[in-house]
Amino acid sequence: MTRVRFAPSPTGYVHIGSLRTALYNYLFAKKNNGSYILRIEDTDQKRLIEDSMVNLIKCLETTGIVHDEGPTFEGEKLIQKGEYGPYIQSERLDIYKDHIQRLIDEGHAYHCFCSRERLEELREEQRKANQTPKYDGHCRTLTSEQVKERIANGEDYVIRLKMPENHNISFYDEVRGEICINSDEVDDQVLVKSDGFPTYHFAVVIDDHLMKITHVIRGEEWLPSTPKHVLLYEAFGWEKPVYVHLPNILNPDKKKLSKRQGDVAVEDFLAKGYLPEALINYIALLGWSPDVNEEIFSMEELVEHFDIKRVNKSGAVFDVNKLNWMNGEYIRKMTLEDATKSALPFMLETGYVTKADEIERFEYLVRIVDTFIEKMDKFSDIKDEMKSIFEYNLENSEEVTEMLNLDSTPVLAKAAVEKMSELEDFSPENLKSLFKEIQKEYGIKGKNLFMPARIIATGSMHGSDLMKIMSILGKDETIKRFSSYNR
Ligand code: GLU
Repeated sequence: MTRVRFAPSPTGYVHIGSLRTALYNYLFAKKNNGSYILRIEDTDQKRLIEDSMVNLIKCLETTGIVHDEGPTFEGEKLIQKGEYGPYIQSERLDIYKDHIQRLIDEGHAYHCFCSRERLEELREEQRKANQTPKYDGHCRTLTSEQVKERIANGEDYVIRLKMPENHNISFYDEVRGEICINSDEVDDQVLVKSDGFPTYHFAVVIDDHLMKITHVIRGEEWLPSTPKHVLLYEAFGWEKPVYVHLPNILNPDKKKLSKRQGDVAVEDFLAKGYLPEALINYIALLGWSPDVNEEIFSMEELVEHFDIKRVNKSGAVFDVNKLNWMNGEYIRKMTLEDATKSALPFMLETGYVTKADEIERFEYLVRIVDTFIEKMDKFSDIKDEMKSIFEYNLENSEEVTEMLNLDSTPVLAKAAVEKMSELEDFSPENLKSLFKEIQKEYGIKGKNLFMPARIIATGSMHGSDLMKIMSILGKDETIKRFSSYNR
């Protein structure tokens, strides 16, 4: 049975790249009727950030990447579901201890007492001699008596893997094919650190084996570590999984997507009002090409089409404009009521509507969203749209002056005020008829009618449907704006 895992180290926020790794694991598992496991890799205690695991689990839940096994919330309570737990590495220390002992007993691992200073000197020398920095095996030949004595003396130590010499390490990667490297190029890696915690390399292999993982799907940055893992499988005499190393996600400048160049945290995208479904749809296409010429996929459709063989080798550029387009498409597929509920937190931030409006005049909020929905890439965009009409700022341009100075404009403004004062229902439809009347009665038409009206009502030459905007502004405010027009 197919078993895959997403194994993040909780370090504060969820990177877009991590979400994609989680998604591909999920899709692959669902496609193959397998299990998708969430494992928390928190053995690097220095990097541990409190609450980030909780945040991670919630983020995955929000985006619909639901795991079959691993830590999860039952109401407010954190539980671990599945038979292969615990799924949090810091709770598995005894397991790693047993396994390291086995490697030591079988001569595959050894204690190393080299001080940091010695290692630094060694590295410096190797660098000067133009050699790849590598541990020189200084402690490899210590006898078990010597080791015991030094431990008893309270010396600090790490435990390293004894790399076999001149040995071919090979493994299969679904994206890159057969890969083979010589063990002489690989360091005697540290398996257990001086604080007694296993390193990532050690824990990952133990856990993947014990959790019966069949496919390791992860970011390309782990490709250079894979030979180290493969050697561990060999040392234990275990069958290794199939590897799938996903291409990097890149910035438009083709460098690896990093926080310095914009948003990379999934939480930030969600907080800006991107829809989880759209985010998932967009990142699914970063590094994988579907077999059909389509771009919009629901999670079910992704499962249906997903094929690990169609994962690309080369990096995928994260294009926020494309994401914006896609998110806009998703927003406009929602009912206006649902879109309004999603937009509400951002509308409230503007201060132009209140919490009470949600209950007392939800229909008014729906009209606001209806007016701007065409222009929204994400829900937070409604803030600027609302500001652009509720705050009156006259655009300063020649064209605006020209429109306001037309001979017909004062006539138009006066007629609008008169007619609007008599209008009971300030609906877009009624306002449309009102302007038609002005056109008929005064012969002002086309651009000369609608441009000055738009400028007087909104201060700008561009924007969403003018009738809808005036209707939102309401009778008093719109009349006020037309009355204060003077040439
Ligand atoms: N804990 C590693 C990370 O943070 C997992 C790498 C792997 O999937 O093996 O990405």
